[in-house]
Amino acid sequence: MKPDIFEAPDYYNLDELLNEEHKLVRNSTRSWVKREVSPIINEYAQKAEFPKQIIKGLANIGAFGAYIPQEYGGAGLDQISYGLIMQEIERGDSGIRSTASVQSSLVMYPIWKYGNEAQRKKYLPKLASGEWMGCFGLTEPDYGSNPSGMVTNFKDKGDHYLLNGAKMWISNAPFAQVAVVWAKNETGRVHGLIVERGMVGFSTPETHNKWSLRASATGELIFENVKVPKDNLLPNKSGLGAPLGCLDSARYGIAWGAIGAAMDCYDTALRYSKERIQFGKPIGKFQLQQKKLAEMITEITKAQLLTWRLGVLRNQDKATSAQISMAKRNNVDMALNIAREARQMLGAMGISGEYSIMRHMMNLESVITYEGTHDIHLLITGLDITGYNAFK
Ligand SMILES: Cc1cc2nc3c(=O)[nH]c(=O)nc-3n(C[C@H](O)[C@H](O)[C@H](O)COP(=O)(O)OP(=O)(O)OC[C@H]3O[C@@H](n4cnc5c(N)ncnc54)[C@H](O)[C@@H]3O)c2cc1C
Repeated sequence: MKPDIFEAPDYYNLDELLNEEHKLVRNSTRSWVKREVSPIINEYAQKAEFPKQIIKGLANIGAFGAYIPQEYGGAGLDQISYGLIMQEIERGDSGIRSTASVQSSLVMYPIWKYGNEAQRKKYLPKLASGEWMGCFGLTEPDYGSNPSGMVTNFKDKGDHYLLNGAKMWISNAPFAQVAVVWAKNETGRVHGLIVERGMVGFSTPETHNKWSLRASATGELIFENVKVPKDNLLPNKSGLGAPLGCLDSARYGIAWGAIGAAMDCYDTALRYSKERIQFGKPIGKFQLQQKKLAEMITEITKAQLLTWRLGVLRNQDKATSAQISMAKRNNVDMALNIAREARQMLGAMGISGEYSIMRHMMNLESVITYEGTHDIHLLITGLDITGYNAFK
């Protein structure tokens, strides 16, 4: 792997929109990624393994629960700082950002928002420090885009709940100590349950053979008559809106993260265009290559502005789910297109693990699918502007 000499593009002086804390958080995360992620990420992606040794470091930079209050072990930062952390981590690798997103937005967030005080005190500090890792089980083998059809269910057995069913495509599942699992009760109402590793009948087989997010561990969650203590039900919100609220937070982080992946591909391609000589001159002197680079920086700049504004709205608690969908959809698509164009600009070198581009490109194929597919987010925008639901 080449030394990480990444320089972030800021074509519209967007740093002027950030406060000192934002810049400090962004810069320290960037340095950490250069030091701890870039030197090892190609090796771990090649061997399809999550680098567990970076968990402590992720906790130290505030990547687990950036916006969770400090009294629960979180970093107590605002939404823009949270976004910038996600941007910088995904600049290193989408798989590592996925691990941080799941921990923060899909595990800590529901425990913080929908849990009681005892649950917050028991789980959040350990999740913030990385002592415990968590996962989020919504998707099932037969229910992906349509989670309302889920068949995972629990029955009230007096002193405990009896949980049965299966989840698949679950990030962090193979090593998580804690799973926030969405399941239906006897009346068909969706609730969140905290399931812990070691509960009898609970297993987490790893999913192998992925060409994407190879440095992120993915697995199944299998529940065979798992006795879940009643204290482990999240009491403060039920219905499908509960998991969807978590997804809003995660999708917001993804919108920022995708900018990071795009910036890395652009920066690599720009540098390569000045170094690679063909027909006696740097390829950056050819109009076709300039067109690619000019379009990349234009799209990155548009995405930066969109996402910064979304962060302001999130800080004011005014961002709608549909606005978050638009940013997730736009930015991931933008990053994937840039990765594809940048890969071409590097010619054969573009497919090599010496450079990050092909890894970003393959990772983004998952990012454009999970947390709501590209098409599902378009339907969310469609519903929002027309009032017509085109899902069914
Ligand atoms: C690496 C990875 C990690 C993941 N991590 C997690 C996790 O941690 N937790 C979790 O719960 N899930 C996770 N997922 C699952 C992910 O959220 C789902 O894959 C996603 O929601 C899509 O579901 P699906 O794969 O079943 O596709 P499907 O829902 O079967 O969709 C297939 C295709 O049909 C389209 N489609 C579906 N319905 C409609 C419609 N009404 N109109 C038009 N087109 C439609 C979709 O857009 C898609 O193109 C992960 C997935 C991946 C790949």
